[in-house]
Amino acid sequence: MTVRVRVAPSPTGDPHVGTAYMSLFNLAFARQQGGQFVLRVEDTDRARFREDSEQQVYDTLRWLGLDWDEGPDRGGPYAPYRQSERLETYKPHVDKLLADGHAYLCWCSGERLTQMREDQQKRKVPTGYDRLCVGKTAEERAALPGYSPTPVVRMLVPDEPPLSFVDLIRGEVNAPRPDDQVILKGDGFPTYHLAVVVDDHLMGITHVVRGEEWISSTPKHLLLFDWLGWERPQFAHMPLLRNVDKSKISKRKNPAARLTWFQEQGYLPEALLNFLGLLGYSLPSGEEVFSFAQMSESFDWGRVNTVGPVFDLDKLGWLNGHYVRELSEQDFAARALPFLVSAGLVSSPASEDELAVLASVVPLVQTRVAVLSELPDLVRFLFVDEDAFRVDPAAAAKALGEGSAAVLTAAADALSAVEQWSAETVQAAIDGALLEGGLGLKRGKAYTPLRTAVCGASIAPPLPESIALLGRERALRRLRAAAGA
Ligand code: GLU
Repeated sequence: MTVRVRVAPSPTGDPHVGTAYMSLFNLAFARQQGGQFVLRVEDTDRARFREDSEQQVYDTLRWLGLDWDEGPDRGGPYAPYRQSERLETYKPHVDKLLADGHAYLCWCSGERLTQMREDQQKRKVPTGYDRLCVGKTAEERAALPGYSPTPVVRMLVPDEPPLSFVDLIRGEVNAPRPDDQVILKGDGFPTYHLAVVVDDHLMGITHVVRGEEWISSTPKHLLLFDWLGWERPQFAHMPLLRNVDKSKISKRKNPAARLTWFQEQGYLPEALLNFLGLLGYSLPSGEEVFSFAQMSESFDWGRVNTVGPVFDLDKLGWLNGHYVRELSEQDFAARALPFLVSAGLVSSPASEDELAVLASVVPLVQTRVAVLSELPDLVRFLFVDEDAFRVDPAAAAKALGEGSAAVLTAAADALSAVEQWSAETVQAAIDGALLEGGLGLKRGKAYTPLRTAVCGASIAPPLPESIALLGRERALRRLRAAAGA
């Protein structure tokens, strides 16, 4: 048997981090088994559909290196892979379920269903469809209140449906009894429950790997597989990612639920991938830093967590810092460049001069950033036009108060006399002028106003190196301007 797995995102907005998490686990298993990984777009919820969402799913998953073997954009033997293009495929299966008495038409209006649910809640009885339409023709039903002329199709859940199944991660799982689920909507679109079963079967999916929120739906799916005479796939329900307060990660509450957020912040894809792996999986060695290949080679469902892992951004920051430091200087510069361009510090395409400045500052900053979006503020002082250079007012208020003019002037005088301009000679000059033997200041006291005046901010790369890179002319100009202000 060739393993075939899938991820099935719904294009309803910015791609959710859970889509990457599910893709990672599906792909790690598929690659280990020499199987295939399918991307299927579940776009049957037309009310929540968002046009640009599908492309964003492609872009973010590819950014992470989680590429698929078959999908809407790639084609494959089971195309189309977009459910909205498969409406004709679902139809005969619905007809069969109706003909076999496993499904029925329901004409109840939305108002009637809402009223029914409210009554059930008031009476504190389990909510669920009351089967008013079962066994009725359209005419019979039309004579009763709460009738809508466009019917939906519902499953007729038997008295004893299959409620337990074996999960690859959890072992034997018991799920609650399902309601008479709608499988075909009034608009002719299948619901998720029908489409997922038909497509998983027709696409030869052997293992359904998805989030634990679908456990309660699995009995409906088992019924559909059985009624349609199809072999059931195996199931693995991954623990849901949780916020630090243990609630489910949602895009409304947590920006980190959006995959594009990680791109905007400047996390490296290899770090995010490692982090997502670590949330659900541990290597036999216990090593926390691992690559996709290591995860895939050792993959074992028995090593997947069952407890909802907490999405700890400090841990991700730590991992990201690790991967950032591992980059070659050239690679770091290449990944940093887009952040400098979008901060307006570097033109697009970057000029030779800008690239040279970037290359010169990389050794100063590569070990200092946790995420690449921190970079523009750290290096702004080097890229900004001299006329546009301003000291950040908050930093100025703290560091450039009374008495700083003397410090700045002494430093400027010493720097103007430096012969061989380098970080070492710059340091010797300012230390000589400001520390013991000069003004007698402690280094922290002496460097803070200099850093603020020269870099315009209170946080910057090491001072002598920064001044050396900036060049004498610009450094003196900024020191004297701050001293005069
Ligand atoms: N379309 C479903 C979702 O967005 C897929 C669930 C599944 O993998 O079965 O989560």
